[in-house]
Amino acid sequence: MEFGELLYEGKAKSLYKSEKDDELITCFRDDMTAFNGVKKDSFQGKGAYNAAVSAFFFDYLEKNGVKTHFIKMLDDHTMVVKKLQMIPLEVIARNVAAGSIVKKLPFKEGQVLNPPVIVTDYKDDEKGDPSLNDDLIIALGLVTPEELKEIKAVTLKINKLLYEFFDELGLIFVDFKVEFGRYKDTILLGDEISMDSMRLWDKKTRESFDKDVYRFNKGDVMTAYAKVVEKIDEWKREHLK
Ligand code: 5GP
Repeated sequence: MEFGELLYEGKAKSLYKSEKDDELITCFRDDMTAFNGVKKDSFQGKGAYNAAVSAFFFDYLEKNGVKTHFIKMLDDHTMVVKKLQMIPLEVIARNVAAGSIVKKLPFKEGQVLNPPVIVTDYKDDEKGDPSLNDDLIIALGLVTPEELKEIKAVTLKINKLLYEFFDELGLIFVDFKVEFGRYKDTILLGDEISMDSMRLWDKKTRESFDKDVYRFNKGDVMTAYAKVVEKIDEWKREHLK
């Protein structure tokens, strides 16, 4: 399949036109950034890890009733997806307090959040992705109240599925970020589901296996990502015989 013109270059992925009008091609690059692009590096093979994990989870979620933009992989870091009109919201679900809510609010790092907490940030790097409440989301016309309800319900469903999945792998699914978009009359899960957009802690040692390893120089980020990929591959060998 021929790549069409480059449509958009994000911090870690590039989007290209495809031969079909209602599809796009996403390239997961090896670039890694943190703190809104202030910290920047490139790690060979990182794009392929995130693409493989995203493809696995999109497929896993589809099998469990969550509609996603994923169509197929073209090679180890390139994915064909349905073309969505993205909704500029970062929908974050949190099972354990970490990161920005510990910085901004009187939560203790590691405090269990049960029921899980959903936070919705406005996706705008220049404004620093400010948090929005439901009224602001509706007033900005980003989604209708019904769509917002659906987006939150789907996020909670994804959260439950992935929490249980990672629990089986010996990892705590601390938090994650998802993005949604419109496709025809439906709202589909878009973007990616990878170690770049979630926090994963070892159940026993609380060691990080996600982008925090890079953000806070906690060790070798590629070793951490490889470990998650290895655990998922082991799970596949056991469950998808
Ligand atoms: P926090 O609000 O604590 O910075 O992030 C909460 C969760 O959402 C973390 O798992 C974090 O990786 C993810 N997240 C928040 N904002 C972004 C973002 O702009 N890009 C990515 N890839 N993940 C994000």
